[in-house]
Amino acid sequence: MKYCSTRNNDYLFSLSDAIITGLAPDGGLFVPVSYPEFQIKEFEDSITIQEMAKLFLQPFFEGDDLENELSSIVENTFSFPIPLTQISEENYQLDLIHGPTGAFKDVGARFLAQCFSYFDQHFTILVATSGDTGSAVGSAFYGLNNITVAILYPNGKISEFQERQLTYWNDNVHAFSVNSDFDQCQQLAKSAFQDNEIRDNFNLTSANSINIGRLLPQCIYYVYASISYFKQRGKKTNLIIPTGNMGNALAAIWVKHMGFPIDEIYLACNANKVIPFYFEQGIFEPKPSIKTLANAMDVGNPSNMERFLQLVEENTNLIHDLHSASVTDNEIIDTIDWVHQKWNLSICPHTATAYQLFRNHKIQNAIVIATAHPYKFRDILLKAGISDIDPPDNLKKFLDGNHEKIDLEPSLPNLEKELLRIHSQRKKE
Ligand SMILES: *Cc1c(COP(=O)(O)O)cnc(C)c1O
Repeated sequence: MKYCSTRNNDYLFSLSDAIITGLAPDGGLFVPVSYPEFQIKEFEDSITIQEMAKLFLQPFFEGDDLENELSSIVENTFSFPIPLTQISEENYQLDLIHGPTGAFKDVGARFLAQCFSYFDQHFTILVATSGDTGSAVGSAFYGLNNITVAILYPNGKISEFQERQLTYWNDNVHAFSVNSDFDQCQQLAKSAFQDNEIRDNFNLTSANSINIGRLLPQCIYYVYASISYFKQRGKKTNLIIPTGNMGNALAAIWVKHMGFPIDEIYLACNANKVIPFYFEQGIFEPKPSIKTLANAMDVGNPSNMERFLQLVEENTNLIHDLHSASVTDNEIIDTIDWVHQKWNLSICPHTATAYQLFRNHKIQNAIVIATAHPYKFRDILLKAGISDIDPPDNLKKFLDGNHEKIDLEPSLPNLEKELLRIHSQRKKE
């Protein structure tokens, strides 16, 4: 399989090169030159998510240097449970919350880290984070010999637990508390990438959510969920997915396009309405993002829209089965309470946006996607009157440990100095 840019299919990239490059040279996003088609019966004998992952990914890895490593990449990525739990007669919840940092981003970050570990170069991964992405990336790349990670986060603007997750690692993962807001962190990372000398000296690469190496593994849990639902209930499922940057939802749309048993897909958004507005008006109009309780979905310019718009142009039927709606902060709190009363189940504010659509539109044959562990957002759950959330075992370790926090004034020379320092520290070891 080869990969091309959404803007231009003259130049073809191997999977490895698409992963290393991240963003296509013309500014577009990498997509496969064609989508393989699958038959449900090919998955008849597969039971586990790892088995399904290998079958599904085989054509995407075909001919690439990583092809022979596919098995171990898959086993090391899906090393935690992803249960599909029945919540009522026809309806289920897919839990993507049991990874090492308690959010679905663990899947993509771990898969990407596994791929990078096989590349024969040293890389510096530079990410700006408002919370969840940085911790998933830190955890996934921790301990890899050929990788140094620098995470930039805004001082005082993330939760205490998020900061504990970011500063837990040391060794090859360094978290910088930048004296600024998230946008400035992102600007600082961007100016480092635009500086040829810094980019080349440190072999900078980003691990952000537009990387094809994060999107492909996200497809796998939709393959698993739709096939498992079909085997149990003999029909197609409807998916309800919390979304912001359209990464998680696009994976589901790809999987439907490739022939898996998915009927309707509902994209649940918070008060950032760019995606629902597109579905109502057919116009994609990026806006500045606004702050909500589901903060990992506070996105005003969803970068994966570019892949999405290209796909719905190619498959014009797809749009009829896709829906989107926006959920307010009050509805988020109300739905957290509703789910707790109905099923004695605690959910995070992002997951609540999906449950609000489930409730409001009376969707049946549904799988609701849970994207983060509620413990990470227990201050918000408290507002819904839920106070009894204990940390799960995998998150307990972040409460202890020796947390190294490095302060950074937001300027490019300061960042360069710090990058030099963490690299020379590495060489001495
Ligand atoms: C990132 C994130 C989302 C949104 O995912 P996208 O891929 O940006 O649509 C939803 N929930 C949680 C908990 C997240 O961390």
